[in-house]
Amino acid sequence: MVKKYKLADGKEIFAVNNINLEIEKGDIYGIMGLSGAGKSTLIRLLNRLEEPTSGQILVEENADSNGTDSDFSKKNILEFNEAELREYRKKTGMIFQHFNLLNSRNVAQNVAFPLEISGWQKADIDKRVDELLEIVGLSDRKENYPEQLSGGQKQRVAIARALANNPKILLSDEATSALDPRTTNSILDLLKQINKDFGITIILITHQMEVIRKICNKVAIMSNGEIVESGTTKQIFLSP
Ligand code: ADP
Ligand code: ADP
Repeated sequence: MVKKYKLADGKEIFAVNNINLEIEKGDIYGIMGLSGAGKSTLIRLLNRLEEPTSGQILVEENADSNGTDSDFSKKNILEFNEAELREYRKKTGMIFQHFNLLNSRNVAQNVAFPLEISGWQKADIDKRVDELLEIVGLSDRKENYPEQLSGGQKQRVAIARALANNPKILLSDEATSALDPRTTNSILDLLKQINKDFGITIILITHQMEVIRKICNKVAIMSNGEIVESGTTKQIFLSP
């Protein structure tokens, strides 16, 4: 896959250059690299917030609806119609470095937001919000507003919101970069738990090696738009 941007002076930047990546169901896949390496561009491509200049992005459909592996069919997300794209986005949660909560809504209302958009009934929303807040350990903060929460708590709200529609994939864009080391660890523990309990594939981008070491089973290292190394975290970091 390639994504180039044209700059004002006519020059072109290959933000993502010849990337060929396979992420398996259940992976916690880390994409690491310095600022400007192309990580955000890659994650925006995966979410179709950007269109690649060339290439395709294949996702497996119905990966868990019927048991036989041979029934897996791969679909190119670039060919999705509007309804398919909406469904794909619903099944792809996203969390961010600066949480992106709605400050005018309290915790419960923030978590309820995607469910409202999906057209859920009020009673079902209330029940699901309670479940989600239980999962992230914030049941006692329902009525609080984002400004009344710590960074770690805000990220927990954002995680609850991202999980609302039972996603298959969670995309994390530097989700712990604004947090202190202890809070970072607790958020990473939560992500690991979510991956284990719900089988959600997590794709995370980070510039922090510790994040990769702590929770990722696989890692790709990006530099200048290219993947310069990839493999299991063990292979990449523990080789002699
Ligand atoms: P990272 O997330 O690793 O910091 P980015 O994906 O944000 O890297 O950026 C990769 C490269 O693409 C950088 O050189 C950046 O300046 C460039 N870039 C990103 N978005 C745009 C854009 N919308 N227009 C022009 N250049 C961009
Ligand atoms: P949309 O169709 O506009 O992407 P969704 O209802 O599908 O909206 O979004 C699902 C949830 O994911 C929302 O709570 C939203 O806050 C969160 N979200 C935030 N940013 C993004 C994004 N860039 N891509 C997908 N989901 C996002």
